Amino acid sequence: MTDQLLDCLIIGGGAAGLTAAVYMGRYKRRTVVLDAGGSRLKLIPVTRNLPGFPDGIEGPELLRRLQQQAARYGIVPQDARVERLVRLDDGSFRAESAQGAWRARFVLLATGASDVEPEIEGIPAALKAGHVRYCPICDGYETEGQRVAVLGRGGHGLRESLFVTNWASEVTWLAMATHHEVDPSELASLRAAGVRIAASPPHRIECGVDGVGVRVELQNGQVLEFDTLYPALGLHHACELATALGARARDNGQLEVDSHQQTTVDGLYVAGDVAVDLNQISVAAGHAAIAATAIHNRL
Ligand SMILES: Cc1cc2nc3c(=O)[nH]c(=O)nc-3n(C[C@H](O)[C@H](O)[C@H](O)COP(=O)(O)OP(=O)(O)OC[C@H]3O[C@@H](n4cnc5c(N)ncnc54)[C@H](O)[C@@H]3O)c2cc1C
Repeated sequence: MTDQLLDCLIIGGGAAGLTAAVYMGRYKRRTVVLDAGGSRLKLIPVTRNLPGFPDGIEGPELLRRLQQQAARYGIVPQDARVERLVRLDDGSFRAESAQGAWRARFVLLATGASDVEPEIEGIPAALKAGHVRYCPICDGYETEGQRVAVLGRGGHGLRESLFVTNWASEVTWLAMATHHEVDPSELASLRAAGVRIAASPPHRIECGVDGVGVRVELQNGQVLEFDTLYPALGLHHACELATALGARARDNGQLEVDSHQQTTVDGLYVAGDVAVDLNQISVAAGHAAIAATAIHNRL
């Protein structure tokens, strides 16, 4: 906790927040990072599309290195979940958590997003083994020649299924009986791409049992087997601290920003998954560089 007025408070210590911390530290600005400890980097077995890592790098190791890099400039994330962010009469921000309160001239929100998880036992082990994957942009390449299932409703599930046909040899859409809701022309392109549509909604999904990657029992009793499952059930953008201050967000929870990553609330900036559709480490780092430099230039 600090009584002093910070130049910048960064909320969230994942890919975006820690990159911003490195920039703010090198700009010699008084900066604190508060982090609730749930970075999606922790879920990445190995990322292989990050520039500069030809052999890939494990997500937790990348997180550790980013923490180490911020610490070089004296910024060590503090364990705290910010519960409330308010604007004071002097124009500064006050962030409140169970651990205390912090005051800052500028705030960078880097609170990320989280995937809606399907009801499958032992998801962490299935993620580690590559039986369950969340991001075909990140790891579709690794599904080359595999049997892949996509679990998702309506247009979102359909588009994700089409996307993975780029690599997988056999794609099945577990549409949960929502395929009648989509545009017939989209359905036709899906069929033309060879995607199968499961005859009925899944009753039970098991991963890694008896050497089978993914076993899906449908409500009609049919049993299907796959190497990989992509749940595409949606994403929750952790934008509540910003919207409570009046920041505008789209229907899906993504915050509206200008070209400097500033929200519609003056002085409140955002970076990373909370602000964008393309959930990628390199995008989070790019946002962080833009936002941190914009904040520095206003101080
Ligand atoms: C399984 C999986 C595989 C992936 N593979 C890749 C890949 O190969 N390549 C790639 O580029 N991307 C990959 N991604 C996506 C990548 O992890 C994210 O794009 C990246 O972590 C986004 O960084 P971020 O800082 O926005 O969010 P995060 O890294 O998730 O960090 C957000 C942080 O904010 C904290 N927080 C939230 N609310 C609060 C609060 N109120 N107070 C304090 N702290 C708070 C959270 O606890 C968390 O620590 C993958 C994601 C998953 C789930």
